[in-house]
Amino acid sequence: MGAFDGKVAVVTGAARGIGRAVAEKLASEGADLVVCDLQSEWLTETTEAVRGLGRKVLPLAVDVGDSEAVNACVAEVLKEFGRIDVMVNNAGITKDTLLVRMSDEDWDAVLRVNLKGTFLFTRAVARPMMKQRGGAIINIASVIGLIGNAGQCNYAASKAGVIALTKSTAKELASRGVRVNAIAPGFISSKMTDALSQEVRDQMLANIPLSCFGTPDDIAKAVVFLASEEAAYVTGQVLSVNGGMVM
Ligand code: NAP
Repeated sequence: MGAFDGKVAVVTGAARGIGRAVAEKLASEGADLVVCDLQSEWLTETTEAVRGLGRKVLPLAVDVGDSEAVNACVAEVLKEFGRIDVMVNNAGITKDTLLVRMSDEDWDAVLRVNLKGTFLFTRAVARPMMKQRGGAIINIASVIGLIGNAGQCNYAASKAGVIALTKSTAKELASRGVRVNAIAPGFISSKMTDALSQEVRDQMLANIPLSCFGTPDDIAKAVVFLASEEAAYVTGQVLSVNGGMVM
């Protein structure tokens, strides 16, 4: 018996990295999964892994910044499974450059995926979760949304926005048994962070008290906690998972 037997979880940006680890961890705890990413063929590995764990899985191509696509996705999940218990807003992008060089397009693209995408999925699942009188929404923010970072003003603003969205929706949905929390990962090994130079990586490591980078699985474990009954009295919070990088 898993903690999530009979539960249905939706994870965005699930093709790789943190999203894939989250989907697999929730499946290993018994959840059926809806895994979303920009293209369905990118979801093959995640889908096979979840199926291998003996869970039902529905892979869907969804651009999280597209309102109609998000609403259609949630409608399909409800048609297929009849409920949504866990929503993990994980899809995210970076387009880093210094403020004075940042184009309108780089600003808009990052805000569209990271912040608007989280808003759209939260709005779409809120009604069915309130009707069920239960649900957990977990938004993947970032340590950068707490402290800012040179060269990432668009990303930092989007993640700070995700934190404010988390707290506001937690207040709105609490009376219906729906909890909303955020996770602020620090430096997690993934394709996004593999793209950084060795120099930047060394600098970051020097500022992490636990002396190592995190793994997607470290974030997946935090998601499982916040989604579970173990966190029944936790809402509107930001859980930092960062090796002590920011205290
Ligand atoms: P990742 O490896 O780049 O994975 C993100 C996934 O989201 C990719 O498959 C990506 O597809 C997909 N995606 C991008 N835009 C999308 C859209 N519009 N609709 C649907 N899916 C979309 O990133 P990650 O490192 O696992 O990060 C996951 C989340 O954690 C992000 O929100 C990120 O900001 C956050 N985070 C990561 C770190 C870290 O150190 N890795 C730290 C703090 C926070 P593409 O292949 O097209 O990009």
